[in-house]
Amino acid sequence: MDVTDDSLINRPILASIHTEAFRHNLNRVRELAPESKIWSVIKARSYGHGLEAALKGLGSTDGFALLDIYDARWLRDKGWKGRILLLEGLFHQNELVLARDLACDLVVHCETQIQWLEDFQTKGGKPFNVFLKMNSGMNRLGLKPVLYKVAFHRLHALGCHMHHMTHLANADQTDQSPTVGAQLECFDGAIAGIAAPTSLANSAAILWHRNALGDWVRPGIMLYGASPTGNYQDIKHSHLQAVMHLHSEIIDIQELHKGDRVGYGGRYEAPEAMRIGVIACGYADGYPRQAKDGTPVWVDGGAADSSGLICPLVGRVSMDMITIDLRNAPQARIGTRVELWGTQVQVDDVAQMSGTIGYELLCALAPRVAVEIK
Ligand SMILES: *Cc1c(COP(=O)(O)O)cnc(C)c1O
Repeated sequence: MDVTDDSLINRPILASIHTEAFRHNLNRVRELAPESKIWSVIKARSYGHGLEAALKGLGSTDGFALLDIYDARWLRDKGWKGRILLLEGLFHQNELVLARDLACDLVVHCETQIQWLEDFQTKGGKPFNVFLKMNSGMNRLGLKPVLYKVAFHRLHALGCHMHHMTHLANADQTDQSPTVGAQLECFDGAIAGIAAPTSLANSAAILWHRNALGDWVRPGIMLYGASPTGNYQDIKHSHLQAVMHLHSEIIDIQELHKGDRVGYGGRYEAPEAMRIGVIACGYADGYPRQAKDGTPVWVDGGAADSSGLICPLVGRVSMDMITIDLRNAPQARIGTRVELWGTQVQVDDVAQMSGTIGYELLCALAPRVAVEIK
């Protein structure tokens, strides 16, 4: 939902997308991979942040990588003249004309896609930039190493501008993982003697496997300021900034007696007399229903310096509301601002309390949440 008129916002939940943090994180990628060009990965509505904010904040990238050709068209309509990579190539043969008209680079990962290109190019289409994807051990998309060389030469013979590509399954192992080493060896072995630019590194490799950068890096999650491992401690010293700040407000306060229970199923029992804050944010906004008691929520301290306190979630997450323990926050009132995730609470910390990773929470931000681009 776009905010165009302040008077139209009724629920207080709001996701602010900080384009300055996008710029900062992109610069961090440049510092970490100064020799490489950057595909900024903006699949899944820019990991839930929206394409418009991504275009605004990441406009100095070398290219955008995404899945949906209609997102490519949106970028072109907005005037993006740089490169666009379709990360899974085409899903159907009939998208070739549009992909050419939009000047998209294509990932090619299977025999069927090669045949589509052979059909198309023999009819005289302008040759594509191709990122030929090798399955170097992840066993998801890509051609097996033994089939790679022949595929490469077939596409090269069509006039395609060729690049070598693979994807790493274990780059989130922050130590020097032997599985990353094995994939690199496989990749290097299969492309030996075939000169072309390479693309290997996701965020985890950019941060922790600097021997695997290649000519085009493909950062996603680090551009959004969350951790490839799902654990914030792993990026704490990497100088990344959270781009999405999710805020809401306390909409009611309950005074409990010792032994009173909170929410569906009465999961939380008050150990003493205490206040409970009710917040306008629930699983229908994308807040994870799995969140356990103790998941951190930041509550504004009311001081001019915007300091605040962490209050723990208590009781089950409902569709439209969560409840928090206000014993830390005697100043809290109806209307007090809270941060669900952003700078005071890391999205990865909420994710860890919910059995998932920050990626999933960011992508799951619900369409009903108002978004402002800052
Ligand atoms: C999503 C994706 C990336 C980005 O991964 P992050 O872990 O978010 O950095 C890179 N390459 C490919 C092929 C992807 O699908």
